[in-house]
Amino acid sequence: MGKKLSRRSVLSILGSTPGLAAFPAHAQDSETPLCDLLVVGGGNAGMPAAIFAAERGARVLIVDTATQLGGTLWLSSGQMSAAGTKLQAANGIEDSPQSHYDDIMRISEGTADPDIVRLAVFNAADTFDWLMDHGLGVHDEHPVTGTNHEPYSQPRYAWGKDDGRSIIRILSAQLQPHIDAGRVSVSLRTKVTELIQAPDGTVTGVVTHNEAGEVMRHRARHTLLACGGYTANEKMFAQLEGARDYADVTYPYSQGAGITLALAAGGYVRGGEHHLPLFGAVLASDSYPARMIGTVRPWPPARPPWEIYVNANGQRFLREDIPSHHAHENALLEQPEERCWVVFDEAIFARAPQLVRGSFAGPLDQEDIRLAFESGMDMFYKADSIEALAEAAGIDASGLAATVADYNRGQADGQDSLGRKHLPLPIAEPPFYAVQLQSWLLTSFAGVAVDDRLRVIRDDGTAIPGLYAAGELLGSGQFNGRSYCGGMLVTPALTFGRLLGQKLLDFA
Ligand SMILES: Cc1cc2nc3c(=O)[nH]c(=O)nc-3n(C[C@H](O)[C@H](O)[C@H](O)COP(=O)(O)OP(=O)(O)OC[C@H]3O[C@@H](n4cnc5c(N)ncnc54)[C@H](O)[C@@H]3O)c2cc1C
Repeated sequence: MGKKLSRRSVLSILGSTPGLAAFPAHAQDSETPLCDLLVVGGGNAGMPAAIFAAERGARVLIVDTATQLGGTLWLSSGQMSAAGTKLQAANGIEDSPQSHYDDIMRISEGTADPDIVRLAVFNAADTFDWLMDHGLGVHDEHPVTGTNHEPYSQPRYAWGKDDGRSIIRILSAQLQPHIDAGRVSVSLRTKVTELIQAPDGTVTGVVTHNEAGEVMRHRARHTLLACGGYTANEKMFAQLEGARDYADVTYPYSQGAGITLALAAGGYVRGGEHHLPLFGAVLASDSYPARMIGTVRPWPPARPPWEIYVNANGQRFLREDIPSHHAHENALLEQPEERCWVVFDEAIFARAPQLVRGSFAGPLDQEDIRLAFESGMDMFYKADSIEALAEAAGIDASGLAATVADYNRGQADGQDSLGRKHLPLPIAEPPFYAVQLQSWLLTSFAGVAVDDRLRVIRDDGTAIPGLYAAGELLGSGQFNGRSYCGGMLVTPALTFGRLLGQKLLDFA
């Protein structure tokens, strides 16, 4: 289960969660009527929890600090994976949750949490079918085996034509009738700042602060923490993952409030040791966390490498044509500051397919890339010699010169020192180019520990009565271990929200 971080060890270092103090406390408290389910965070996990609980007649209150429901799905690609779906059957694909589980354990090299993964994948098809039955339209060629992550053994990976927003549309349409009927109340621009606990530890509600400075106490039979991860909280990220958050690409409300709340209630945090960066962010500057303007996501079966990757010492650190995202990500993890440079020459630039692709800031074409070098844009370096290139880019010059010489020798005789087979051209024709690539993450690896009923647990394994958690708050490390398995945050968040609303709570 990995290293446990307790309330004392983490709270003392983290202090208060940034953003939570932003709304001033008001002297006048007021209390709302008891609800059956209080959902902290109306995003990917929180919305289905509210929908399915309301379908059973529960009175639900959703509190969200943002201006609208939907959470990270506003930014997310919304890629989902589920085995045994109606979509697969319609496409003649035979698949099973067990095969999905086996793939996750294979890809994560056994580091994902078996119980959490089982609960997620054995219930994923019902979630996916429910979305499709309610109008989710996916891309024509879906399901597929994978994109940008290690492929699954079966095509079980699909997403809406409008990414995560496609899912928000379905969830909003299903939630609205319950809001209209008065079963679900929504309190936006309102932060949950505290859990209310009875002397025996049972969570009996929450305290909220809204923008007007009002403090409210809400009593609830069951409280669900579904307030996402901490990728927008640099300090918490560094503390829980022991690494820096370099790229500013995530939902600004992902401040880790659920971690702080669960720890204060007696829960604990696990999974930060699974931290694994994504490969190849081109950032706008070195003022971190920085805007991301492009990516290099190597997938040799689609685009065999023409270039080399080197670290700050000028050394190559992986066989560039290895057909594995996982291998690239793990190799980058070992490099100083999770940073590398892709190095090439004029002949490669002229002949190779486009390498740097656009990302959050919009598309990039080959002319944009050339312009970036010509204009001396940050992260894009060009020089007439390898030594001058190294100096400009901040790479060790003698190391890079030795590496390029070694690569060129291997290229000439077909015997690459790292065993690379795709060796189209030497790096020999000036000018020479380097693009600095940084690690980036979209998700938080550490999360709140729960049991198989999604109850938040103390480090002695006992459940904190009345308190549940779902979504990214459980930590990517539980679903993916130290790896990325396609769709294994969006689908589990939806699924655990659905299960909590549908099955695990007793509203009698
Ligand atoms: C750009 C991007 C792309 C991604 N693509 C994929 C993908 O394709 N597939 C995949 O599986 N995963 C993907 N992920 C991850 C995935 O989208 C998230 O892990 C998932 O959506 C999180 O769902 P959640 O319900 O846990 O949190 P959210 O959906 O973030 O919901 C949390 C909610 O809690 C609210 N909140 C926070 N603090 C408080 C507080 N104190 N009080 C009240 N409310 C609060 C927030 O405003 C938010 O609405 C991506 C992530 C990003 C950033």
